[in-house]
Amino acid sequence: MRGRDADARQRAGVPDRNPQVGCGLDSDQYRRGQLAGRLAVWTAETVLVCALTLLGRPADSFPPITFINEPPADVSRYAEAFVRTGERRIYVITSSWMFQRAQNATFQCGEHQALRKLASVLVHEEWHVTHGGDEAGAYAAQLITLAYLGSGPGHPTYYDVSLSMRMTLQGRKGR
Ligand SMILES: [Zn+2]
Repeated sequence: MRGRDADARQRAGVPDRNPQVGCGLDSDQYRRGQLAGRLAVWTAETVLVCALTLLGRPADSFPPITFINEPPADVSRYAEAFVRTGERRIYVITSSWMFQRAQNATFQCGEHQALRKLASVLVHEEWHVTHGGDEAGAYAAQLITLAYLGSGPGHPTYYDVSLSMRMTLQGRKGR
C-alpha cells in the first residue's frame, strides 16, 4: 500500500500519541468535502461506522465519541485521539493522517489499514476511559485489537503502534 512508508515515517516522530475512544458524533465539518465537486470525502461519521464494523461493535458500546478538527493546545499535535481525565468521552482528531486517509478512500470503508488503525485507537482510548491512564495496558489492548483485525506482528501498522508504545513508555520513565 502506497501510504505505508509515509506512515512509518510519521509515526517514528511521535513521542506521546494518546489515543482514546467514544461515540458522540458531534461533528459535521467534514461534510464540506462532499460538496467540493471533485473528490468526495466520506463523512467522519461514515468512517467511524466503518471502524466499528471491523470491531463488530455498535457505537453505543463505546463511550461517546466527539470529532474535533485539530488537537487542542494541550494535546500532542501527532495525536489521533485522546481522552480527558474524569470524562467519559473519546475525542477523535479528524485532521490526523490516519483519519484523512480513511475519509479519502475511493470506496466506502476502503483504506483498510487506516480503518484498522482507527479501530485500534478507539480500543486504546476506551481502555483509558475504563481503566485510567496506564499506557502499557492501553497499548496492549490496541495491539491485541490490531492482531485480531489481521494486522498483527510483522505488519507495518502493528510495528508503528509498537514503536509508539515504546516511545511513550520510555518517556514515562523519564527519558
Ligand atoms: Zn494512551
